[in-house]
Amino acid sequence: MKIARFEYQNSVHIGVLNQTGDALAPIALEAPGGDPMIALMERLLAGAPPPEMGSPVALADVRLLSPIARPSKNVLCIGKNYAAHAAEFSRSGYDATAKQPSDYIPEAPIIFSKAAGCLIGAHDEILPPWSATQEVDYEAELGVIIGKGGRNIARADAYRHVFGYTCINDVTARDLQAKHKQWLLGKSIDTFCPMGPWIVTGDEVDPANMEVRCWVNGELRQDANTRDLIFDIPAIIETISTSMTLQPGDIIATGTPAGVGIGFSPPRFLRTGDVVRIAISGVGEICNTVR
Ligand code: MN
Repeated sequence: MKIARFEYQNSVHIGVLNQTGDALAPIALEAPGGDPMIALMERLLAGAPPPEMGSPVALADVRLLSPIARPSKNVLCIGKNYAAHAAEFSRSGYDATAKQPSDYIPEAPIIFSKAAGCLIGAHDEILPPWSATQEVDYEAELGVIIGKGGRNIARADAYRHVFGYTCINDVTARDLQAKHKQWLLGKSIDTFCPMGPWIVTGDEVDPANMEVRCWVNGELRQDANTRDLIFDIPAIIETISTSMTLQPGDIIATGTPAGVGIGFSPPRFLRTGDVVRIAISGVGEICNTVR
């Protein structure tokens, strides 16, 4: 099942994509004071049948929103989780975490976060503050959506806590990332987390074998498979939940493969008018223009 959050005729809905992929059937779900997407996730994970659906609206007539409106915490991100990207990051001179280029493979997962306020939808515009940054970069990533919360989740149980998957662009201002040492500011600029187009439920896909691709203005820049993650999804969930309680609706960006702008020499940063398209097999694609 592919479940989107979208705006249609000035109101926000949760809806299920039809078989032909061109219409969304809205779901009426009462979630007083809460997030209807999270209420739906909890209901489906409890084995209840999906709620009744209204008459479908054409995908072309809606604005897709980030599938989760407001996670309980920042978007959790994994740094340097593909070896080829860890190597390019190390060579780029932007990596303050490696003491020398030869230690670019992390020994334990590197966990950081993006403020949840920077989430935008599948076709919304990325709006860098050009007075503060000239080094805006893209990072295509598989996003994991937590469905069942928990603390101290063991590897073997990890997938039982996952509701589904989505595409994420971990947009990053490299100059701010370097200037402020900590990555938070350079990663958390408003609009710097495009996400969507929807959540595909875990029963439909194999997250250990997904093609992750990114194009800038039609040129293929990133092309990898999630089988090459250094730390897989169970390892990531086990690591994070050792420290903090995961909640339904929490979002984990699993790391980007090689081919980001700083992987080129000279670096190839994003400019006004550039179009970044990210596609993940079995999930879908997002496409955002930089303004
Ligand atoms: Mn990233």
